[in-house]
This record gives sequence, C-alpha cells and structure tokens, in this order.
Amino acid sequence: MTQLTGTELTRSLIAFDTISPPGNEADCARHIAGLLEPAGFRITWHDWQPGRPNLIATLPATETATRDAIVYSGHLDTVPLGRAEWGFDPFAGQISDGRLYGRGSSDMKSGVAACIMAGLALAREPVRQAEVRLIFSAAEETGCEGALGLAGRPDLLGSCAALIVAEPTDNRPFVGHKGALWLSLVHRGVTAHGSMPEKGRNAILAACASIETLRGFDFGVTAHPVMGGPSLNVGTMSAGMNVNSVPDLARVGVDIRSTVGQSNAGIRDALAAALDDGVEIATLTDMDHVYTDPDDPWMKRVFATVAEVTGTAPEIETATYFTDASVLKPAMGDPATLIMGPGAMAMAHQTDEYCETALMDPCIEVFTRLGRAHIL
Ligand SMILES: [Zn+2]
Repeated sequence: MTQLTGTELTRSLIAFDTISPPGNEADCARHIAGLLEPAGFRITWHDWQPGRPNLIATLPATETATRDAIVYSGHLDTVPLGRAEWGFDPFAGQISDGRLYGRGSSDMKSGVAACIMAGLALAREPVRQAEVRLIFSAAEETGCEGALGLAGRPDLLGSCAALIVAEPTDNRPFVGHKGALWLSLVHRGVTAHGSMPEKGRNAILAACASIETLRGFDFGVTAHPVMGGPSLNVGTMSAGMNVNSVPDLARVGVDIRSTVGQSNAGIRDALAAALDDGVEIATLTDMDHVYTDPDDPWMKRVFATVAEVTGTAPEIETATYFTDASVLKPAMGDPATLIMGPGAMAMAHQTDEYCETALMDPCIEVFTRLGRAHIL
C-alpha cells in the first residue's frame, strides 16, 4: 500500500460533494471514520440532522491521563459553487502547478486532512499521557449549526486543554478572531394611502432614525492591540410594498464584529438602549470572539513550533472570519485555542478554489509536534 499523504487525503475528501445546503456530510464523515477507527480511535456520532452528523474520534491515553485532551477540529461542509463557471472540476481534486483545485480545498478539507494525518501519527506513539480528539462538524458554513448542536451535548464533546481549528490561514498561527453579532432591526408602522401620509406611521422613516443612531454608535471600548476595535455594518434594508403607500414594515440588517473586552449580550443591550423603544431586535447570528493570550504557555509553544517548522517567526495575528471555535471554546472549558490551517484565506468560497500543496506537510508537522509535546 502506498503511503497516505496529506494531499491525497485532501483529494479524497474533495471527492465528496458536501455543499451546504444540503450538506450531506455523512459519506465524507464515514470515510474519515474508516481511516481513524483501525488506527485506534473510538468513533462517536452525533446526528445534528439526518445525513448530517458531527463526528468525534477519540484516541485514548495509553495510561492514566496526566492532563486534559488536545483537540483538532474542522468542518466538513462547503459553500456552494457560485454562479461563475469553474475552470476545474470542483470535485476531481486536480493538481496543477502545485495547486490542488476543488470546492473545499482551502475551506477546509486540507485542514481536515492535516488534523487526520496528525491524529494518525499520534496514534503510532507507544505512550500517550493525554487523549487526542478529532471533532469534525457539519453545517459550519450556515452559522456553526453543527457545533451548536454539539455544544448541547457536553457528554459527547468533553473538555480539553488545547483546541486547534484548522480553518484556512496559509499556515499562519492565529490566536483568535472577532465575534459576530448579526441583528435584524424590525420597525413597524401603520399603512395609509400615499396621498394621505398623515394618516399613517412610516416604518422607513423609523428605520432611517435607527440607521442614524447606528452611524454614530459608540461601543465604548478601545481598540485591542492585536484584534483591533469592533465594527458595525448596515448590510441590508428591506421595506415598502409600493410607492403610493405608507410602509408599515422596515427591516435593517446589521453586522457587528466584536472584539476582546466585549460580550455580544452587552452590545445588544447597549444598542437596545440607544434605539427608539418601538424597534424590535431579532438576533440572526451570535458568535462570541475567540482570543488566547500570546503569552499563554501553550500558545508560546505554538509560535516556537511554527518557527521551527517553517523557519520564520510568525506575527501575532487574529483571523477576520469567525469559526466553530466561538462555540467549541466555551463549551470545552475555555482551552487555549489556535486557528491555523494549510488552506489559503484568499481562496475560501472562491471560484476555482485551490490550496497550495506545499503547505500541507508543514501544517501536518506543526500539528503532530504540538500533539506529541502535549501527550508525551
Ligand atoms: Zn471554513
């Protein structure tokens, strides 16, 4: 049998169409379980939805565990192909000029493959003083839904000392990411004929007042030295049936990215206090920020390991996107958390998505060394 490589494993994962919706992660997850189980992993399934399982693979400690587990994590679903025509078959895993093409190649089947390869290497260690756990979620791309399902099952999820989420970072070690709070502000008015607006109450004008409040909104926090300050974007507005009626409904969609020192619940309360009383606030997405102090001993080890493997001392940075870590970190006892993977950040969700195959082995090496240092 030829030696399994990270790139070949990634190709085998790309061959499964896990575009979400509908996701259909089950076959891909079973393929992964089939690799891990013979190596000594215990497989646990959590059915988030029919055909959409979360997979938890646990490699037990060989003796009494002296410390809590190390966890590697990724999601198996991908985003749709988009409207533009692809130059490469999105499921064939074609390699050209050192680039492996396919939907999910960067986000994040290469990262999932790196987790599996590291897990298989750790399974060959004769002595392990801590558990190694691999968690592969369904339905991340639609708002970490699979991970949210798992968060309600602490019996399956367990706790851990260190968490690695292998989202695309071009192998840069990110110490966290901002949170996301997506709100829909609902304004209700009273409709009337457009020739007699004084008989109605205009929901669009109420929405405009809200937008003016949002434009000047002060979050009351100073910018974090690594993550920066919070941001607020008015992303959508929908209102009005026809030009000659007073609109009685106006919705404004707001995307807030929160930073260290903020809680999403606190932001929502502050906005509710600043907006007019009649404005209803519906939460669409609520993901807390993730941050581990770069001086945390495990994070220091991460930076030293990346420097050893790549030959370059990494910068201290955070990701621009949010990940399952928003859900898993608090649910697993607030472990030190690294976001790092071989996928290209710029390629996530793109037409002709690819990952650089040269980044696979260094990522697997970093993951394996971190695992070894943790379990030995
Ligand atoms: Zn992703």
